[in-house]
Amino acid sequence: MSAESFYLTTPIYYVNSVPHLGTAYTTVAADALARYRRMTGSDVHYLTGLDEHGQKVAQAAEEAGVSPQEWCDSIAPRFVEAWEMLGITNDDFIRTTEERHKRGVQAFWQALHDAGYLYQGHYEGWYCVPCETYFTTEQVNAHECPSCGRGVEFIREDNWFFKLSEFGDRLLELYETRSAEGRPFIRPETRSNEVLSFVKGGLKDLSISRTTFTWGVPLPFGEGHVTYVWIDALLNYITAIGYGDPEKAEEFARRWPAQYHFVGKDIIRFHCVIWPAMLMAAGLEVPECVYAHGFLLTKGEKMSKSKGNAQTPASLVERFGVDAYRYYFLRDVRFGEDGSISMESMVQRYNGDLANDWGNLCSRLFNMTEKYFEGVVPAPPTGAPTDADTSLRGFADALPGAYETAMARLDYGTALEAAWDLIKDANRYIESEAPWNLAKAEETLPRLAAVIYNALEAVRVAALFCAPVMPGTSAEVWNRLGLGNIHAVTDISAAASWGQLPAGNAVSKGDPLFPRIYEES
Ligand SMILES: [Zn+2]
Repeated sequence: MSAESFYLTTPIYYVNSVPHLGTAYTTVAADALARYRRMTGSDVHYLTGLDEHGQKVAQAAEEAGVSPQEWCDSIAPRFVEAWEMLGITNDDFIRTTEERHKRGVQAFWQALHDAGYLYQGHYEGWYCVPCETYFTTEQVNAHECPSCGRGVEFIREDNWFFKLSEFGDRLLELYETRSAEGRPFIRPETRSNEVLSFVKGGLKDLSISRTTFTWGVPLPFGEGHVTYVWIDALLNYITAIGYGDPEKAEEFARRWPAQYHFVGKDIIRFHCVIWPAMLMAAGLEVPECVYAHGFLLTKGEKMSKSKGNAQTPASLVERFGVDAYRYYFLRDVRFGEDGSISMESMVQRYNGDLANDWGNLCSRLFNMTEKYFEGVVPAPPTGAPTDADTSLRGFADALPGAYETAMARLDYGTALEAAWDLIKDANRYIESEAPWNLAKAEETLPRLAAVIYNALEAVRVAALFCAPVMPGTSAEVWNRLGLGNIHAVTDISAAASWGQLPAGNAVSKGDPLFPRIYEES
């Protein structure tokens, strides 16, 4: 029997920007889940990519004196490189200018057209090009976009419309049923009120095409119409896994519906209202969950390029390393809520959690193994465990369950705390058992072996649960313990059961995993 499919996505990022802390946040969070689910045996498919169409892209290309495709081709590598730098293990990278996407979008329009959910109409209203969003006259104040504050333009054109207004009741039923079943469609559930009141307020039909420019996927009917860029972008979630391609029907059936769409809270309406309605109209299942995370704030302001927050993923990775970068954002900000980030707190987390707790535990133990046992894992203890032994093993035994419960809620902070409970107890254990004293007398040498074995075993287990967030250092810890490739683990719970560290394994000391960082003044 083949493993269960676990399909998760990030939004596809707009090609007019470059990777920044916000897009990296979503992508790292999804990656940590993807890595964890591979370790629990799921058949993971992790998709990210680029949104390359729309008026804004066409304009930017024109200003740069290149074709829109050349413009996209010049930006795409920056995203690919950034995700490689951050250790992202996406299984696919879709660009909406690819043929597979175009074919899927056209098949989708044909399906909706045939089902009677599209009609031709006349659109009049305001359009914000930077946001690629329509607004009504009531929403627009003094010709300014209600979302970004920049100028909007009045648009009057013939468009194709999607009968979104017919889906209000079915959407409300979806939200209600899923919540009653304990698997809410919109998570965290605190975000659902905004969506509910929007839908209850009555939905208007949605203009899905544009005729004033050509940089988009042409509608298969309706000469001169290209797909509205937001709709174009949403469809990537199905076109990437083969929608509209008869040769990929099996793959599509196996992968869809997605388990998670990771999104920022600013695009929740597109994903929780328009997207499920589109899927319903096409007779497709809706995803299991749309998870809308919060914003990263610096002194209360959203992190964004336009507001001049100068830190980039690359500059932080250079200073802290990729694992510490991933750890900081997932540990210090409660996923789902807005969270403040700062250089001070990043240095604190690094020195406290990583250098002191985790890095130091590994260093001390690997050093003592070398000093007292010539760098070889001693035999596991055979006598009755002491209270300290029992406590340490208790934290290790509790970890898989606690971690799973937290990760099922995308509560990365609590998952990492569970790993830290074990790490901290291992540090306490070394302090209380004081191997350096046990090494002094012949009769305490068996106890010394027991203590070192138990502590090394705690490190082996802790590394497993650090791996989804800090893959590089966990692999290194397993390496130094003479164990196999940690990323090949497909049953983390079984791998974590106590006592599997083989006696006789060669342990290597290596350099500090997280050398202390001193704050620049
Ligand atoms: Zn705007």
